[in-house]
Amino acid sequence: MNLDIRNLSMHYGEERALDGMNLRIENLNSVSVIGPSGGGKSTFLRLVAGLEKPSGGQVIVNGIPIDYEEKQLREYRNRIGLVFQSHNLFPHWTAIQNITIPMIKVFNFSKAEAYDKAFELLIKFGLKEHADKLPVQLSGGQQQRISIARAMARQPEILLLDEPTSALDPQLTKEVLDMLIALKEEGTNILMATHEMNFAKKAADHVVFIDEGRVSFEGSSNEFFNADKESRLGEFLAHVFE
Ligand code: ADP
Repeated sequence: MNLDIRNLSMHYGEERALDGMNLRIENLNSVSVIGPSGGGKSTFLRLVAGLEKPSGGQVIVNGIPIDYEEKQLREYRNRIGLVFQSHNLFPHWTAIQNITIPMIKVFNFSKAEAYDKAFELLIKFGLKEHADKLPVQLSGGQQQRISIARAMARQPEILLLDEPTSALDPQLTKEVLDMLIALKEEGTNILMATHEMNFAKKAADHVVFIDEGRVSFEGSSNEFFNADKESRLGEFLAHVFE
């Protein structure tokens, strides 16, 4: 994926959630967005998802600037898969319905296509036995895996995830991260806000650190996790993770 973020700002009244953010990512497959709480990660992801119009600046995804005209914006959102921290699934639909109904009603897939694709994903990720369960009958990890399967069903250009494991215990977190690692390995473009340093270490090619509405570091995860303690980045990381 390519991302070009130019002087991006998002203000809520006096609050500057993003404050002239710049970032250029070229030909990367998996990017982790990390940083302190309140730093602007969610706002950044919402803007990349086209869920909100920025106060200023531009978001250019795979060479095309987001156009905020209603029709173009709807088309853009169709190119992106989204998974939030929790509550992604409709509680009164089964797992399979959560995947197929939006495909049929919103994205104009035929019923047969939607069910074929949904079963393919459920089988692939070991979730078939849960197809007919309601979200309340699933663990938090299973719910998030269904949410990821739903986001993948339309083969999005980018899968955006905002702290998808933040509500999960370590075992369930592992299930979700393993699924994301498998998706990354088959070439899915992943942009994920996370506090899971293990994921960032193992599965992200690149790390973007957002603080106070700006990017304060971006580089390969290798560079990030092997920073010399004496270097500026090393000192910065020691400070961040102290
Ligand atoms: P992070 O995801 O890194 O925790 P956020 O993007 O959620 O950070 O928030 C960045 C800042 O913007 C925070 O101070 C937050 O309170 C503020 N903010 C985010 N969304 C809104 C909103 N819809 N209305 C008002 N303030 C917001």
